[in-house]
Amino acid sequence: NQHGGTRSFCTTSSHLATATIVMSRLAVVFGGSRGIGRAVSQLLAQRGHRVVVLSRNKEAAQATAESLHGEKHLGLSCDVSKEENVQKAFETISKTCGTVGYLVNAAGINRDALLLRSKSEDMLSVLHTNLLGSILTCRGALRSMLSHGGAIVNIGSVVGVKGNSGQCVYSASKAGLEGFTCSLAKEVATRNIQVNLVAPGFIRTDMTAGLEKEEAVRRIPLGRFGEPAEVAQAVLFLLESPYITGQVLLVDGGLQLAS
Ligand code: NDP
Repeated sequence: NQHGGTRSFCTTSSHLATATIVMSRLAVVFGGSRGIGRAVSQLLAQRGHRVVVLSRNKEAAQATAESLHGEKHLGLSCDVSKEENVQKAFETISKTCGTVGYLVNAAGINRDALLLRSKSEDMLSVLHTNLLGSILTCRGALRSMLSHGGAIVNIGSVVGVKGNSGQCVYSASKAGLEGFTCSLAKEVATRNIQVNLVAPGFIRTDMTAGLEKEEAVRRIPLGRFGEPAEVAQAVLFLLESPYITGQVLLVDGGLQLAS
């Protein structure tokens, strides 16, 4: 039973046959009620994992948890920018569900504006949610993962890698998350914990509502916005890849090639 939740075996000594069986894990998805996090929750549930869905809106988190394939999923309220909230969420999870195997950090907000027009309050909200929030949840999950191993995927952004005018603070939060991901990957590798980052481009969610204009689409080599399920596929791949850590995987339709 490896940390990635997979196991290989041979059937006979003469006919070496290997097969991969996915072991059920407890997966915790912050920002799981909507958009990319919701698609990740759906895919993990389809793979047979038990999912804890978290967002500030408790009803939305519970509704998503109830809509998932299979049983025993849980929806909880948690504001990742608040340390006490995160601590309480992990206490509830460890009491009611047990050891965390997978953590996905998809909670995020944007307050896009040119830097000179950005309000300090908005800058702090973005940094506290996107960067500090993921740091707090990783620390919370590690306490559980240290003895059993595990895998973490943080959701960054192509703009954290490439930058974008009007998104200075948002880009900084995502670039910071990339540095954090690589450092944490080094810090916990010996404990059988992988930490990776998926950096999406334009994905069709509430966050990008109204942005899907011809000019934006034209910049994307694949010629369209991505779907949340297409990001979820990459997240699942990293969670289930026990020999990949400290990587940034762009899921952006080639946007980084064009900019
Ligand atoms: P959505 O706005 O569709 O969903 C955001 C999710 O995060 C919701 O579940 C929301 O629930 C939750 N959330 C927001 N703030 C908090 C908070 N403080 N604490 C806990 N949960 C929170 O966004 P996307 O699905 O589009 O984005 C998901 C991630 O992907 C974000 O980190 C985003 O920055 C990143 N991303 C998105 C791209 C896109 O094109 N859509 C591109 C690149 C990166 P609630 O409001 O109830 O808290």
